[in-house]
Amino acid sequence: MDVFDLTARQLAQEIAAGRLRSLDATQAILERIDKVDPHVGAYLHVCRNHALATAQRVDDKVARGEPVGPLAGVPIAIKDNLCTRFAPTTCASKILDGFVSPYDAHVVERLQAADAVIVGKTNLDEFAMGSSTENSGLGKTVNPWDPQCVPGGSSGGSAAAVAAGLAWAALGSDTGGSIRQPASFCGVIGLKPTYGRVSRYGLVAYGSSLDQIGPITRDAMDAAWLLNVIAGHDARDSTSVPADRAPVPDYLAALNEPAADVKIGVVPALNEAAEPDVVRAVRQAIEVYAAAGAEIVELAMPHFDYAIACYYILATAEASSNLARYDGVHYGHRTADAGDYVQVYTRSRAEGFGPEVKRRIMLGTYALSSGYYDAYYLKGLKVRQLIRSDFTSAFNRVDCVMMPVAPTTAFKIGEKVADPLQMYLADMYTLAANLAGVPALSIPCGFDGRGLPIGLQVICAPFAEDRLLRIARLYEEGRDWSTRRPSCG
Ligand code: GLN
Repeated sequence: MDVFDLTARQLAQEIAAGRLRSLDATQAILERIDKVDPHVGAYLHVCRNHALATAQRVDDKVARGEPVGPLAGVPIAIKDNLCTRFAPTTCASKILDGFVSPYDAHVVERLQAADAVIVGKTNLDEFAMGSSTENSGLGKTVNPWDPQCVPGGSSGGSAAAVAAGLAWAALGSDTGGSIRQPASFCGVIGLKPTYGRVSRYGLVAYGSSLDQIGPITRDAMDAAWLLNVIAGHDARDSTSVPADRAPVPDYLAALNEPAADVKIGVVPALNEAAEPDVVRAVRQAIEVYAAAGAEIVELAMPHFDYAIACYYILATAEASSNLARYDGVHYGHRTADAGDYVQVYTRSRAEGFGPEVKRRIMLGTYALSSGYYDAYYLKGLKVRQLIRSDFTSAFNRVDCVMMPVAPTTAFKIGEKVADPLQMYLADMYTLAANLAGVPALSIPCGFDGRGLPIGLQVICAPFAEDRLLRIARLYEEGRDWSTRRPSCG
């Protein structure tokens, strides 16, 4: 048996049963990272000693006959905007280079309590701002299917790691598509949970009213398995939803319930706005559901088109406020060229932040400034409400909405970096789910003419992740995309 052919869940079962050792799996993945990651660039830090020590602890537990957690001994990667005490947390920014957090993120605690082996921290666009991972201040990640192309972003390192077999699963964060779009570009599953489903404690904030952490995996079962571990209330995040308001179901058990008679909403004009290969693949995927018994319902979502404008006002406004804390005093980089405190502050920030982060701080500060607050920020909040109500009316009629994840497949490295607006337009399909707070996932649904993966986006009502995963699973059952691997995977 090749250990790399196992899913995360299968590997955990083998380790828990004592048929495989976590230490062997961990050593195997570390060797593979040494060999393959120089060509992919998925990781910013590999936590070799931490991973080997954790693996040994899990194996010891198994040997002693003690119970082990659901992720027993499975090597998992996490995005480098999740705080860890055992490795640096940089957000791929020079301003945090070398910073080590004094605490672990909630999801890190949950992974560790579930006996996962955190093998390393993955590259991202600086502070998760971007759609290609090209805005990273610390590393370059390529798409494992074509090294000339971007892996998507901002969780590009996590998606590339899973696609290239450099981790059995990964966590990413999604403020406007950063789990789904890289998952789509790299041919893996990416799930953004409902806002409030997973605690953001220890996730470095970008747009606090939009950010969510979620799994990036090879199949829907692994996504359910990981979501079981990370979902649930945490008093340290005041937006995390208490169990009495939204109990956490067993997502894996939910996969076995029937989903064939699902009602699928589509917005035809929207689905046809992508490039032809994407339009075709998404249409064919929806036909697979129809053939299995689904009812297809045409919907209007009149405010969907405003998502880009609305998101890039609200997200930058929140970012400008969240990033005020990087002052050269509390965290990370401090200028060597200091004079008085105003100079420490301005020079440290000028040296530490990359161009896209600076652009967003300026945009957000402008949108919040006294003369423009009503015209931009307040108006953005109102539009957000309209987008939310589009989803509410949709979910009164249908069980889910399906559309592409992105208008194109992975684009070439360098193609959009010089034109931020083109980069923002690449997010046209993913931003609305964050503005509305609803759960959404990306599922591989085919390849374009160049052999690059295409993602189908499925969006459900708040806290219907169980249904979302069931719908994804239904599609997977018919066709096993996970067997087709990228060239450097
Ligand atoms: N591409 C979007 C942005 O640049 C979304 C990023 C994200 O989800 N973190 O803001």
